[in-house]
Amino acid sequence: MKYLILLGVVFAVIWWIKLSRPATPADKTSTATDGPQNMVRCAHCGLHLPDNEAVLSRNTAYCSEAHRVLAES
Ligand SMILES: [Zn+2]
Repeated sequence: MKYLILLGVVFAVIWWIKLSRPATPADKTSTATDGPQNMVRCAHCGLHLPDNEAVLSRNTAYCSEAHRVLAES
């Protein structure tokens, strides 16, 4: 009788582990962070680049600090 209870506990633990596993989103790919990026155009050379990489000045985007200086001089 003691072994039957022990066996029941072991099965309960295995069953509980099996149940808890699919709940964890293991194969969820991180697509939320790399969604469509807002692209801006360099006012000097016309290069398109993501707005977080652009050099912004007076509401105008540039691909680099050098092009900002060239365009504003
Ligand atoms: Zn440029």
